[in-house]
Amino acid sequence: MGYWGNNNEAVVTAVIGPGSKAIHLKRSFIPDNEYHLEEISSHYADSGQTETYLGDWHTHPKANAYLSGRDEETLIAIANHKEARLPNPLMMILGTKPFGLKVWTHSYVKHFFYTKRVISECKIKLY
Ligand SMILES: [Zn+2]
Repeated sequence: MGYWGNNNEAVVTAVIGPGSKAIHLKRSFIPDNEYHLEEISSHYADSGQTETYLGDWHTHPKANAYLSGRDEETLIAIANHKEARLPNPLMMILGTKPFGLKVWTHSYVKHFFYTKRVISECKIKLY
């Protein structure tokens, strides 16, 4: 949760956990969507409608912070999910081996005759 600040920098003000009904498997994770929707809307209301859903995060147990193929697919799915109204979602990954945090963002860049999808690493500010 957070907002986009100056210089195209995402400011992360809160991180929502998995939720009690989330399913944690060794190589995958199914979030507790009901919990997420409740947390997102209450945080949005509490912040005076200034802090919104910016994207997803997860850890890579026993691996570094890299963007896997599945992570990239998830990022694209969030960008394509019209209800989220989030064409530039973030994917924040906490690697544990070595310990480190990396963030990627999805965006569309207009060229002369077409729009190109760009996924690039970005910097964020954590509060
Ligand atoms: Zn991942």
